[in-house]
Amino acid sequence: MKIYKLKTSYKEFINALLKKRKEVVAPVNYKNTLLFRQITSADEIVEPGNYINTVRSAKEFMFPITEPIIEFSYKNKDIQLDDYAPELKHRVIVGLRPCDAAAFPVLDDIFNYEYKDEFYNSRRTENILVSVACENADESCFCTSVGITPDSFQGSDLLLKKNAAGNFFAYTNSDKGEQLAGLLKDVLEEVIDLVDENPVYKQVAEKMRTPLELDKIKEWLDKNFDNPAWDEYGARCLGCASCAFLCPTCHCFDIVDEMKYDKGLRRKNWDACQFPVFTMHASGHNPRDKQNKRYRQRVMHKFKYYNDRFNKTLCTGCGRCIRSCPVNLDIYEVVRSLPLNPLPKEGDF
Ligand code: SF4
Ligand code: SF4
Repeated sequence: MKIYKLKTSYKEFINALLKKRKEVVAPVNYKNTLLFRQITSADEIVEPGNYINTVRSAKEFMFPITEPIIEFSYKNKDIQLDDYAPELKHRVIVGLRPCDAAAFPVLDDIFNYEYKDEFYNSRRTENILVSVACENADESCFCTSVGITPDSFQGSDLLLKKNAAGNFFAYTNSDKGEQLAGLLKDVLEEVIDLVDENPVYKQVAEKMRTPLELDKIKEWLDKNFDNPAWDEYGARCLGCASCAFLCPTCHCFDIVDEMKYDKGLRRKNWDACQFPVFTMHASGHNPRDKQNKRYRQRVMHKFKYYNDRFNKTLCTGCGRCIRSCPVNLDIYEVVRSLPLNPLPKEGDF
């Protein structure tokens, strides 16, 4: 790891990036919604002190909401398949929170499990992540429960955080981060001494909710596939899937063929386990035919199955699913209370 002092403001750092790279993506206020979008000037961005987190995470830049994967056409009875190469933009994604950057090492495992997803992997190789440590958190954040802190490095190529005097420093955390810092000599100056820590990051961590006891939660989930608590939570859940669509670690997708006359595209589209048809078989049988089973799947996948398979939690505590749920189902509260008092009470959420 190398440490560099920013010789300029945050915005000038971004303008320096724009001069060097083809595409920079950063949080912008787009139609009153904070989203990662391509920018052409740092004047378009929302500065890190002015937001907790974007509405959608940065995962769509590695795993787009929809993308073609094969082109096909019929000639008489023959079918011709043409692979689609992923379009690479060599992006720098700036202004991610550590919880969003940390989602990528988690996603790397599933996209390289039995099948190596070249669409995800090529973007992951090309895109550079510049995260910014959090000086604020809200009541939905709980990253400290899942092994992350407001200034942690997991997944970041470069992490920007302030020293005690409030000046930004850039910490490299990968070869890509080193190479990027090397490109930005005009605005970065390497420092040899240790940087005096800004206490704000520890204070933000201390203000978050009591850390979850993940081992106890896992132990309870291991034994309670059929607990009546799932019926109670399933009855509250609308199955809208906002939680899954906004989550930086949810990764389910569907494959759909779209045709016009004798030509078509096979697309990979985001999907979610909260939708009734997600597990519908061609026979009409649906193993998760009720919302209690679908809600259980969401919790089990995040806090048990992913742990069983990869020894990781499929959650970075970003809080998006809590902020967005129309019926206030709070995944932190759900998993915290399951081993203690599984059945929710009226007015709990
Ligand atoms: S489950 Fe919720 S809190 Fe955890 S990473 Fe996904 S959206 Fe964030
Ligand atoms: S956002 Fe809330 S209501 Fe919608 S599927 Fe997720 S838990 Fe259920």
